[in-house]
Amino acid sequence: MTVCLGIESTAHTFAAAIVTSKNKILSDVRANYTTDKGGIIPHEAAKHHKNVYKKIISKAIEDAKIKSSDINLIAYSRGPGLSPSLHVGLNAVKELADDLSIPITGVNHSISHLTVAKLFFDVKNPIYVYVSGPNTQILSLEGNRFRVLGECLSIGLGNALDKFARAIELGFPGGPKIEQLALNGKYVELPYVVKGMDLELSGIITKATDLYKKGISKEDLCYSLQETMFAMLTEVSERALAHTQKNELVLVGGVAANKRLCSMLDIMCRERDSKFYAVPLKYSGDQAVQIAFQGLLQFKAGNTIAKEKLDIDPMWRTDQVEIDFL
Ligand code: AMP
Ligand code: MG
Repeated sequence: MTVCLGIESTAHTFAAAIVTSKNKILSDVRANYTTDKGGIIPHEAAKHHKNVYKKIISKAIEDAKIKSSDINLIAYSRGPGLSPSLHVGLNAVKELADDLSIPITGVNHSISHLTVAKLFFDVKNPIYVYVSGPNTQILSLEGNRFRVLGECLSIGLGNALDKFARAIELGFPGGPKIEQLALNGKYVELPYVVKGMDLELSGIITKATDLYKKGISKEDLCYSLQETMFAMLTEVSERALAHTQKNELVLVGGVAANKRLCSMLDIMCRERDSKFYAVPLKYSGDQAVQIAFQGLLQFKAGNTIAKEKLDIDPMWRTDQVEIDFL
């Protein structure tokens, strides 16, 4: 049996988890960098990670009730992400590599948000709707590459929500606060901009911010932002299912926590005899279980990195990775 220690450090979360090749999650420990006001500051996030990384890794081993010598694989987030944060993860792995002489594999963080669906659901070949802070992509595995069928052109859905939250002083992360306020809002018209399979969200945030300054309530704007942006995403997701003739849709990433988004996608899928799956809330944001799980799959496919070649790639794109492990 392979026992994998996964390490996540791409952005606001430093996390460690231990998962076995029998798909058992033995531990899952996380520390989040948050702010009351304003967005994520890369060097502050890295400082946070540096302060907690030793404690988080030790706690993951302790919670799993194993000894560090029982670990026989390390998987770490190699990118994409914020360079200062990624470096903390890399240095932690280098330290561990000196202590434990075991194989190491570098995981593409974005792809791990997709693959983790297979730890929970028996999905065959779905369309993935990936909505994290910075990324919004509609993806399909075609041959040995993920193809991006559609995406956000300027800013991702999570960042758009966070940007608006910042403009109306809700703090970070903005998504959950917007979802709460939206419960008491009513509709005001906002720009709906779908270009082919892509979404453009910067105009809508500018417009909503203007309307806020003109006195429209936070509640109405939060409700209308959600309705408009989520409808745009649902439209392109439906087109992706139609084009590829697939009948499974998986929603992943931090924004998958949003109940209204899940409900819109679920209705669309049911209307076309397709199945909708949302990765469980606990695993839809950044954590290390998905890193360990994908690490195990990669290791099984023979994909490891030599200790001297350990590195990071802050700009590592989803469609650059050869998928030989799914
Ligand atoms: P990730 O980068 O995958 O960890 O996702 C973080 C993003 O998810 C941030 O932009 C959050 O604002 C967003 N998010 C978290 N919870 C919710 C929610 N309930 N509704 C909308 N967005 C959310
Ligand atoms: Mg993420």
